[in-house]
Order: sequence, then structure tokens, then C-alpha cells
Amino acid sequence: MYDIVIIGAGITGSFIAHNLSKYDCKVLVIDKNGDIADGASMANSAIVHAGYDPVEGTLKAKLNVRGNRMYPDICKELGTEYRECSAFVVATDDVESKVLDTLIERAESRDIPYSDLSGDRARELERNLSGNVIRALEFPTTGIIYPWQVAIALMEEAMLNGCELKLNEEVVAIDRQTDKYVIKTDCDIYEAKYVVNAAGVYADEIYSMVVPTQQNIRITAKRGEYYVLDEMKEPVVSRVIFPVPGPKGKGILVVPTLHGNILLGPNSELIPDKDGINTTAEALKLVKNGVSKTVDNIPFDKVIRTFAGLRPSGDTGDFIIEESKEAAGFINVACIESPGLASAPAIAEYVCDEVMKDKWCFTPKTEYTHRKPYTVMCMLDNERKNEIIAKHPEFGEIVCRCCNVSKGEIIDCIRRCAGAVTVKGVKKRVGPGMGRCQGGFCEPLVVDILAQELGIDPTEVLLDSKKSRMLVGKLDSRVTGE
Ligand SMILES: Cc1cc2nc3c(=O)[nH]c(=O)nc-3n(C[C@H](O)[C@H](O)[C@H](O)COP(=O)(O)OP(=O)(O)OC[C@H]3O[C@@H](n4cnc5c(N)ncnc54)[C@H](O)[C@@H]3O)c2cc1C
Repeated sequence: MYDIVIIGAGITGSFIAHNLSKYDCKVLVIDKNGDIADGASMANSAIVHAGYDPVEGTLKAKLNVRGNRMYPDICKELGTEYRECSAFVVATDDVESKVLDTLIERAESRDIPYSDLSGDRARELERNLSGNVIRALEFPTTGIIYPWQVAIALMEEAMLNGCELKLNEEVVAIDRQTDKYVIKTDCDIYEAKYVVNAAGVYADEIYSMVVPTQQNIRITAKRGEYYVLDEMKEPVVSRVIFPVPGPKGKGILVVPTLHGNILLGPNSELIPDKDGINTTAEALKLVKNGVSKTVDNIPFDKVIRTFAGLRPSGDTGDFIIEESKEAAGFINVACIESPGLASAPAIAEYVCDEVMKDKWCFTPKTEYTHRKPYTVMCMLDNERKNEIIAKHPEFGEIVCRCCNVSKGEIIDCIRRCAGAVTVKGVKKRVGPGMGRCQGGFCEPLVVDILAQELGIDPTEVLLDSKKSRMLVGKLDSRVTGE
């Protein structure tokens, strides 16, 4: 029997598993997807918000501010990237300028650093800021991360310290018994004393498996769509550019990424389909119009991809993080929409230190194993590269030409705990396919490496989910001439 089963290996479940892995307890994480962070934690703006936006008195406000302060040290410890890139919230008229005054009040009461800039001063700092901008607030502690990289690193470290992970297993029923929960998946059955429900857009349905009459948690998917612009020598902005927040949230943004791309988006649309991650021409048009209000000279001819993510939107406007009143030991971590990413380390701390405080009977481990960060060849000087290649020649074999990723780096990310088992899994960990050609050149090579490392036929290699085979079979010998 497990002490704790966590349902959901997104950023929330991964942070909670990592926190729990520091204690002597038996933890299992289950996810229906084929990789860690394949839900909302993969498709978002990747911003560690400073914390000025959520309404006073909410969990969102408290945990966002704390999470923003925790991230830099956590990323350093994990060996994942974090850049404090700063953000502008811009006003284009007097009504919007009044909203900035409210944000100043929130920032001051939460000790969040900011500067109040005229439109002209803001344009000196961001040359492409629209001529319509009359005032901007700068929030310098706004950060950007690779959310999936953080989640994977957390899970890798949790697993190095005893946590177990089951991917491609969907929880289909939960039976509450006197002193335990019996969790049924489409593959197996597990028992646990406590269950943490971190199932994103499906957290309401998971809760209903235990308390069928529950009305507390109701989640609708709120889709956000994006354009991704190619890397540029001089990206159109260096800070995140927000319009003033409105009833639909933080608005449509221009966001620099750690990779050197620019994201444009997201819009905000409630949809009935909890798996509806397709993009639409209408929403992308809204995105184009939205970003054009705050930033000029956006090179729309540099779009290399579009994507969409689903926010798990509840009807209270706040996160719901609490032990169920009807089912003792069942902990809901639900409605984790934005700023869920920014808040995630603080959410995990809150779950372990506050929500589970009374049940806490686990002792801290005396020894803890930290993960070894990836070797990123393109970041090293030639001397160090040559040393590594002399010992491991596969680190000298470039597979992804856009992002300079070697075969050695790909093999390493497959062989680790929580290692990649899909093409997208490799892309999320070490980057082949992130560049201009979006995998056009390197994807077949990654398929071959995965097949070799996993000991399977190339036709069995998956893009991401169980149903995503990429190859159907070998070409007929009459075509290949073999
Ligand atoms: C468009 C968009 C932009 C955003 N931008 C930001 C931002 O810039 N900054 C920020 O702070 N936040 C942002 N967010 C919010 C942030 O992405 C989420 O709050 C966060 O990713 C939620 O993480 P999670 O782990 O709770 O959920 P998820 O990442 O969705 O993980 C839930 C997991 O549960 C699994 N699951 C579901 N049902 C089952 C089942 N039956 N059995 C097994 N597993 C199951 C799923 O497969 C999934 O992997 C944004 C969100 C979106 C959609």
C-alpha cells in the first residue's frame, strides 16, 4: 500500500511529489498521458508572474507571491533555466491607467518591486512598444522558465529518491474504504492512505469518483491559443508585455521565451471539450489584433507554429486546495489555472505544510540524492566540448542542426529516471525539434535513437500519446530498391 497516490504529473503533481520525496513515505504518481507535463503544464505562457495581479485575499495572490520568490533557488538546485526577464503592464488610455493604480496598490501591499514609467520612458526601454502606450508599470521580478523542464527535473529527482511514476494509466474509478482508497486505472489497481487530486481540467471528475454528489468543484476548459515566432537576432521585445488585466484575465501578451522565440497569445475561450487543444483561425485573428495594440513591428511572417492550452477554470475564481470534507484523506488541488505555474512550488508547500499538517507522520530523510543537470553541449567552450567528445564520441554527433543537440544528449535524456520515451519527450527534455525546422530534419533521427534505446522497432515509436505512432511500416522493396 502507498502512503500517498498523486493523480496528475503536471507541474502541480510534480512539485508535490518532489516535496514528499524528502520524507520517508511511499509515493506513487499516476498520469494518463505518455509523459510528465503533457497537459496545461506544457502549453502555457511559461511566465513566473510577479504576483501583483490576483485579487487580494485569494489563495492565488498568496501562493503566486510566494512561488515567484521560491523559483530562482529551486531552478538553481534542479539545474533548470530561470530568467528574470521583467514585464511591462501597459495602459493606452486614462481608463486603463486607473487599472495600473490598482496594481500599484496590490504590489505595494505585497512587497513586489515595480517602477511607474511614462509611455516615452517605456519606449526607450522597449523600442517596439506601441506609440499608443501612455504609461507602463514595470515588474522586474517577472521570470520565464521551461515549465515542462522544471516538472521533469522535479519528477526525476523525486524518483531518484524513491517516488514511483506510472504513465499512460488513466484513473477510472476510486473506491473509498474505511482506512484506505483503492484507485483503479485502465491497467492496474493501487491502494493508498491518502490521495492527492492534481488532475488539471479533470480534477472535478476525479473528485466525483469519490464523492459522486459533489458540487464543490466544477471545471470548464478555458482555451488559450498562441503563435510561436522564430528565433531572431533582436527579438521584438525583451520583456513580457501585458495589456491591463480585464474580465477575461491577464490579456493577450507578447512573451520572450528562454529559447529565444517570441510567443503571441493567449486568447481566452470557454469550450465544452476538455481535450480540445486544436487552434482556430478566429482565435488566432483575435491574438493578432490583441498584440498589435501593445507592440509594433511584430514580424508575423516569422510564425513557425501555433498551439493551444486549456486552463482548468473553476467557478469560484480561486484555486481550491483543501482536504475534502466528505472524504477524509482525499486532498483536492483543483482549479489550478493561471497563475498556477508561478504558484506551483508554493502550492506544494501549502499542501504539505498546511493541508496535510494534522496527518503528517512522515520523518524527513537523512540522505537525499540530487539530479545531475543535463550536459548542454552548445553552452560549453571548445576545450570542455572536446574533453567530453573524447570520452563519449556520441556527444560530437549533431542530430538537431537548428538547436545544436547531439546524439549523446538525446541518449542521456532517454536513459535517466523519468526519461523520455516519445519523440516529444526528447524534444521537451533536450530540445531537438524546437528550432526553425520544427523537427523536419532531426525527427527521423530521434525516432531511430529512441527505437535503439528502448529496444523497439521504429514503427512502434510514438510522437506523444499511446495513439500517436509516426510510422506505418517499411517501404516496399520495389520502392527502396533494397
Ligand atoms: C493558455 C495558458 C496560459 C497559461 N500561462 C500561465 C503563465 O504564464 N503562468 C502561470 O503561472 N500559469 C499559466 N497558466 C496556468 C498553468 O499552466 C496551470 O495552472 C498549470 O500548468 C496547472 O498544472 P497542473 O499540474 O495542475 O495541471 P496539468 O498540467 O493539466 O496536469 C494535470 C495532469 O493530470 C492528468 N490527468 C487528468 N485526468 C487523469 C486521470 N483520470 N488519470 C490519470 N491522470 C489524469 C493529465 O494527464 C495531466 O497530465 C496558463 C495556462 C494556460 C492553459
